[in-house]
Amino acid sequence: MNRRNFLRNTAMGAMAIASPISFSAFGEATKQTGRPGRMKLSFEPYELQLRHSFNLAKFSRTTTPDVQVKIELDGITGYGEASMPPYLGESVESVTKFLSQVDLSQFADPFRIEDIHEYMESIAPNNRAAKASVDIALHDLLGKIMGQPWYKIWGLDPTKAPSTSFTIGIDKADVVRQKVDEASPYNVIKVKMGLDNDKELVDIIRSKTDRPICVDANQGWDDKEKALEMCHWLAERNCLFVEQPMPKEKLDETAWLRERSPLPIVADEFFQRLPDVRRAAGAYDGINIKLMKSTGLHEAYQMAILARALGMKVMVGCMTETSCAVTAAAQIAPLVDWADLDGNLLIANDRFDGIKIEEGKIIIPDRPGIGVVPLSELS
Ligand SMILES: [Mg+2]
Repeated sequence: MNRRNFLRNTAMGAMAIASPISFSAFGEATKQTGRPGRMKLSFEPYELQLRHSFNLAKFSRTTTPDVQVKIELDGITGYGEASMPPYLGESVESVTKFLSQVDLSQFADPFRIEDIHEYMESIAPNNRAAKASVDIALHDLLGKIMGQPWYKIWGLDPTKAPSTSFTIGIDKADVVRQKVDEASPYNVIKVKMGLDNDKELVDIIRSKTDRPICVDANQGWDDKEKALEMCHWLAERNCLFVEQPMPKEKLDETAWLRERSPLPIVADEFFQRLPDVRRAAGAYDGINIKLMKSTGLHEAYQMAILARALGMKVMVGCMTETSCAVTAAAQIAPLVDWADLDGNLLIANDRFDGIKIEEGKIIIPDRPGIGVVPLSELS
């Protein structure tokens, strides 16, 4: 942030504290009445429209349920989001039910992130996307109060953020060709696999480009010998790594595969929360951190630090999300080896300005908090 913006934000913050303003970028159901000096949480369901139907080894869909969240404190607003791909077991109903039970007005100090997470864990053990939405909005709010983006608060160099991959789902040959053209601005192509035509898909991509690919099998390879054969085949075709090749329950088989695979094996579905880093360390080379699994930035940052300390590779990924959650995830991008932050590019109804991609590389916005502005405030 330059000096002028900093002064403007500081002045806005001071104005807001002197005269609390109610920001209402969207007409959500609000459950807590605002009290000066106390956080107010509000939320509304928002259905994400996908540009292409999303086909994975085990599912297909054209929309993703989502809940948009705000935390307001003395006129400053933090934005957050919960995205709920159906296979993760959360829904608009479960998220709004959880959020209805969250009363942030009991916390006099918004900087008690650890206490707020402990409190959310006491409400229910799971609900990870719901917790992430509160965590993201809280980080946005706190960063705005401090006047700094989170990568800076963590002391990270934003130029160390890697390129992001761009995902090509399982589809018919002509659609795949079209998607490879769409992926031309990106330096890495992520290929979703796990069906019978896996090799055909890669052959089509290789007929059009020699850019590196990474592969996400989404647990699609049941047999370890077949998985190993695929890893060797992919290694000859400029593939960087393979994500979740085998079902998450098959830990011993995955360890067997990892010992023999020429490519790094990255945990996604196997890996959810912080204690899973240690469990993954024996069978996987790396972890894929996603805010909707990690309950937000607080734990995501700790996961990245722990995994690096254990000598593991770190990847940051996302669900289909607006630029709100994707830009929040980008704050830890300088800590990772690989990034898959294209979720906002896969939807047709984004509502935030945030993360940018230049020559395939992630550009983290130089704005306080998680770095987003609602599009409605830019027009
Ligand atoms: Mg994955």
